[in-house]
Amino acid sequence: MEHSRYKIIAYLQGILAAILVIAPFAVLQHIYVVGAFRPQYLAIPALVAVVLGLLLGTVLWLHRDLRRQGELFKAVADFALEFSYVQRLDGRLLYVSPAVESLTGYSADALLADPTLVDRCIHPDDAPLWRESHERLRQTREPQVVELRMLTAEGESRWVRHYAGPVLDAAGALTAIRATTIDVTRQKDYESYIRMLADYDPLTELPNRRYLQRELQAAVQQAAARGAEFAVIFMDLDRFKFVNDAHGHSVGDQLLIKLAQRLRAGCRADVLLGRFGGDEFVFVLPAGSTRDDAQAVATKLLAIANEPFTQQGLRFSLGASFGVAMYPADGLNAEALIKNADAAMYQAKRASESVRFFSQEMGDQATAAVHWETLLREAITQRHIEVYYQPIVEVATGRVLAVEALARWRQPDGSFLSPATFIPLAEELGRIHLLDAQVAEKAFVQLGRWRKAGYDIKVSVNASARRFQQPDFCTELFRGIAEAGIVPRDVKLELTESTLIEDMDGSRARIAELREAGIEVAIDDFGTGFSSLGYLTSLPMDILKMDRAFISAMERGRRHRAVVEGVLGLARSLEMSVIAEGVETEAQRQMLAAMGCEAAQGFLFACPMPAAELEAYLRAQGGAAPDRRGAGGA
Ligand code: C2E
Ligand code: MG
Ligand code: MG
Repeated sequence: MEHSRYKIIAYLQGILAAILVIAPFAVLQHIYVVGAFRPQYLAIPALVAVVLGLLLGTVLWLHRDLRRQGELFKAVADFALEFSYVQRLDGRLLYVSPAVESLTGYSADALLADPTLVDRCIHPDDAPLWRESHERLRQTREPQVVELRMLTAEGESRWVRHYAGPVLDAAGALTAIRATTIDVTRQKDYESYIRMLADYDPLTELPNRRYLQRELQAAVQQAAARGAEFAVIFMDLDRFKFVNDAHGHSVGDQLLIKLAQRLRAGCRADVLLGRFGGDEFVFVLPAGSTRDDAQAVATKLLAIANEPFTQQGLRFSLGASFGVAMYPADGLNAEALIKNADAAMYQAKRASESVRFFSQEMGDQATAAVHWETLLREAITQRHIEVYYQPIVEVATGRVLAVEALARWRQPDGSFLSPATFIPLAEELGRIHLLDAQVAEKAFVQLGRWRKAGYDIKVSVNASARRFQQPDFCTELFRGIAEAGIVPRDVKLELTESTLIEDMDGSRARIAELREAGIEVAIDDFGTGFSSLGYLTSLPMDILKMDRAFISAMERGRRHRAVVEGVLGLARSLEMSVIAEGVETEAQRQMLAAMGCEAAQGFLFACPMPAAELEAYLRAQGGAAPDRRGAGGA
């Protein structure tokens, strides 16, 4: 409407102008040529006035429309927070958005006056990338995206994502380049921070398993190129579990930290060492190292572990067992070398010796494992796997929000084997999906009962890669939920990072399907895996379960607390809620509460327990905050 009104006004104005121009001529014609008023002589001037008026009106309208479009474009582009510009092929800038000033410190006018300033803002190291992307754009006329650093007027470097696209004329020829540049410095900071987390063990700050494996593989390649041999030493502390059980995990953690420091200090700089697992360390000796060198290093490491530690008034002396595998005799890649060094360590432990070298017969020892395999296979098929439940609580009040279902395998003597032992075995046997399904099914039925009894809680189940990646995973899960008489909203699913990255596309589709149905999806043990930001951003999930290594480290100082704060900030920016795992002390709880972490799980609140005990726990709680000191002893 508006549009045609403007058009009519323009035409009327054109016709009016034309009449004003032509009327004097018509009057003069009457006076001097015709000599009297003859209306029929006005027909031609009137026609000319209309034609001319319409022409003028069109020009006027086009001019105004162009101006209005220009103003509209500027209004939108000026308002945007991104730095945008349009540049002709000869380099002249046609438009620069004012946001350039907040990004670079240069004003839009400065850039318009000196277009080369744009190129000069690019970090010298990234200049080739910048040129290549523009060159590609000119050649292919396809939009280009690059991430690079820009330098501000003060010389500060900022990470930006630069989108450049073509401006084409009607014939399809490239006439200019339009570009938008977004500041991604914060995201990059998070990324590099997370990458750092990915390579180091947060407790001991030693390289982690992933880093070790990568570096060992690189060492293999270098040694292969030089035809050199070298040694890999696997170290495992003796009876460390006993220290943990008898004195608590925090004492255990402190010991590991001190030991790690001593080991680092006691090794030559060319020895790569890292924490492989709980109380396991791996040492990679430099190319050219021999069996004798390995023996000497292991002896020295043992002496280091044996030296007494004092911790919370207690004196500890740690024992350790060592296994050695030599490249190339005992393995040609990182995986084989670590596996065989581990097998040698196992033999050393069994024989109560401190150091063993790998030998081929050790492979035979695997037969012992067969025994366990048979038992576990039976336990799974006969549905003997039991489920324990651990409360997930509100940090501030201790109110139970949900319970995590955890698998338990009871041994003939009544004791339980740790899932940390039998879950990997079930994985190896290719039975883990059956175990998971069994635990989930039992947990759903149990939740159905609790729901009926009026308890307003949810249940969280773990899924292994093998189960999660089955094509009918979602269907099966939904069926189990329906059969138990509960709804998807009652269920949370915990996935570890390694589960997700095995098949990103499949994971994305399944997570979307689960969330669509109302199931909340959690990333479990966050911080222990590869921790690439990429999967967090490309696989939207609801909950981030922060690994307990972060929580136990928190009391060690500001830096460690900053890490937790960083993870909380990251989760917030990704709109995920956080559950802190492994909260064991009131001090940790208070720190988490102060940082705004809302949910937690850990021995401070309650240990995993059988259904009947959990029910008693819920009853005792009666909706109010539980006595936290008393709740941890299950
Ligand atoms: P998770 O999923 O991270 O489960 C939490 C583990 O942390 C549990 O160990 C729990 O007992 C332990 N934990 C809880 N609070 C504390 C605390 O305050 N301090 C310490 N030190 N530990 C705490 P659990 O039951 O031994 O399970 C170990 C892992 O085994 C689980 O880690 C999970 O990855 C796996 N798992 C357990 N049940 C299943 C299952 O049904 N299916 C699959 N696929 N994995 C399972
Ligand atoms: Mg879990
Ligand atoms: Mg966990």
